[in-house]
Amino acid sequence: MNVHESEKIAGLLSSNGYTKVSNMQMADIIVFNTCCIRDTAEKKILSKIGELKALKRKNKNLIIAIVGCMTQQEGKATSILNTYNYIDIILGSNNHLDLVKHINELSKKKKIVQIESLDNNNIIEDFPIYRESKYKAFVNITYGCNNFCTYCIVPYVRGPEISRNPQKIIEEITGLLSNGIKEITLLGQNVNSYKFEDIDFNKLLIMIDNINVVKEFWIRFMTSHPKDLDENIITTIANSKHICNNIHLPLQSGSNKILNLMNRKYNREQYLNIIKIIRDKIPHCGITTDIMVGFPYETEEDFLDTLDIIEKAQFMNAFTFIYSQRKGTPASEMPQIAPEIKKERIMKLIKKQNIIAKNISNEYVNNTYTAFVESYDHKNKILIARLQDGKQVNIKNNDISLLGCFVKIKIKNAGISALLGEVI
Ligand code: SF4
Repeated sequence: MNVHESEKIAGLLSSNGYTKVSNMQMADIIVFNTCCIRDTAEKKILSKIGELKALKRKNKNLIIAIVGCMTQQEGKATSILNTYNYIDIILGSNNHLDLVKHINELSKKKKIVQIESLDNNNIIEDFPIYRESKYKAFVNITYGCNNFCTYCIVPYVRGPEISRNPQKIIEEITGLLSNGIKEITLLGQNVNSYKFEDIDFNKLLIMIDNINVVKEFWIRFMTSHPKDLDENIITTIANSKHICNNIHLPLQSGSNKILNLMNRKYNREQYLNIIKIIRDKIPHCGITTDIMVGFPYETEEDFLDTLDIIEKAQFMNAFTFIYSQRKGTPASEMPQIAPEIKKERIMKLIKKQNIIAKNISNEYVNNTYTAFVESYDHKNKILIARLQDGKQVNIKNNDISLLGCFVKIKIKNAGISALLGEVI
């Protein structure tokens, strides 16, 4: 999500005559797009901001802007300005469009802070976007979130969920496909709850699947929510021409007690039932997930429930996290688990999930697939491709004319999260 927002900020600057430079020392303007979902991301960005002091001392005309959801936490903008008094502009994640206006006003004002929430009347459309890839693209379908999971800061900083007009989404996707983009990822905090008038996520997927400006393209989406991913959506994916057999379905915990404390609004039985429906309807679906350990009140028994469910669900890949306390959320007021217990649990979780992922990876070896070549890793001289189910395949080949192409490949070897393949 943040990567795409950075593309929008870069698009805005480049459409106003600014050009990208290769290092911070050469820049006249430095924009930090921040994220506050996890404490580690916030600490990292604050340390980066601290490093800019020396640059600002050398170049008095350097403009430094901090944007994104970190600035929207209560009292954060003031505390950033107090600690880092060389920052010029602070904007919330819904105020990007005003960045250039503020840059131009800096000659009259000393510091600028703008943090406003988004409402249905100010979804910004036709925004210039500087896309990092010529072959794949992100397209927002919703903004914000209504779910209030008790550990999560997003609804407080990003505001309520708003769905984009489907016509605008179709226009954007049609334009991208006409310009050579082959893979599009639909974005939203909870894409499954998309709703614009009588168009829900299922209808939107059907509309997108019916776009016919080019023959071959793939559509992915993230993130899904287990309480909203229903059988209709799964059936649509199964019957579609372009929607990938790849679903990212955050589990968070395998314990019903913890899921309830997290306010996730599903239980482990319901979660496993969705997995069963997906497996029954969509053959070879790549299911990935997010799992958190060390949530308040998590006992050893709760953690064992998580280990048990990952065995049952057989995730192709899992993003595993230690719970991180976010000020202002209900969970941050609950009794916290000791760091050494959290560390021990994450190690056990990773170890178990790695065995599962490796066993799944092994099943690909010696089989052939269609893969989309999405980028080239200059350092390791490999093409990075992805199968329709989301599995990454590294190809030892430096034929960059294959970038942006669908190719036939044979899998030669398997790692935990990526495969090694060759073009056939
Ligand atoms: S669904 Fe829950 S975890 Fe995801 S953004 Fe919304 S509140 Fe946060």
